[in-house]
Amino acid sequence: MIRVGLTGGIASGKSTVGEQIRLLGALVVDSDQLARDVVVAGSEGLAEVVDHFGSEVLQADGSLDRARLGSIVFGDEQALAVLNGIIHPRVREAKASIEAQVEDPYAIVVHMVPLLVETGQADDFDALVVVDVDEQVQLERLMARNGLDEQQARARIGAQASRVERLRVADFVIRNDAGLEELAERTHAVWHEVLKLRGQQGDGCGC
Ligand code: ATP
Repeated sequence: MIRVGLTGGIASGKSTVGEQIRLLGALVVDSDQLARDVVVAGSEGLAEVVDHFGSEVLQADGSLDRARLGSIVFGDEQALAVLNGIIHPRVREAKASIEAQVEDPYAIVVHMVPLLVETGQADDFDALVVVDVDEQVQLERLMARNGLDEQQARARIGAQASRVERLRVADFVIRNDAGLEELAERTHAVWHEVLKLRGQQGDGCGC
């Protein structure tokens, strides 16, 4: 199995690229989605969150109030570490279980991980694809998508790794400064290169 990491800054276009790659036939694993899945209503993960943070993080229907929890852990390193200690092992387990079901030894599994660089996972993959966008475009898309003002959007971008840090560890870069059609073409071209990794798998065996 070839494990590919897909990352990029906030609102850079990871999900859009991830969906395009999925349409090209790849198995795309969305870390954000898994992080939500492990704390769905009634889950053991959510019970643990409530044990630590209290039932005030629950909404009336028993689901997690993400905004409330976010405001509790924001700027509180200890609380964030507790939360990560609940979520991260479960996400890792979910990913391992997904990979364990892949039978094809030449399958390419793409892991979409927003904070891949920030969490030091750059070396955990056979190849890293970075969706890169210049800051002005990123700012505009983020403000439009999340309804943020410029200051709020800049703060979110500033809290992440820089473009340079991401590009430094990238094996493949998909620029997302044009339209969706161009993005699809660029994604296709990069995917074509990623597929070549299959041919390299097993190189150096000496046989
Ligand atoms: P996050 O990690 O913050 O959730 P993301 O990196 O997954 O974001 P997307 O949600 O894919 O980013 O894209 C951010 C926004 O920009 C979305 O509203 C998306 O529709 C839009 N967008 C992405 N690429 C393009 C493009 N090439 N042209 C126009 N809009 C785009």
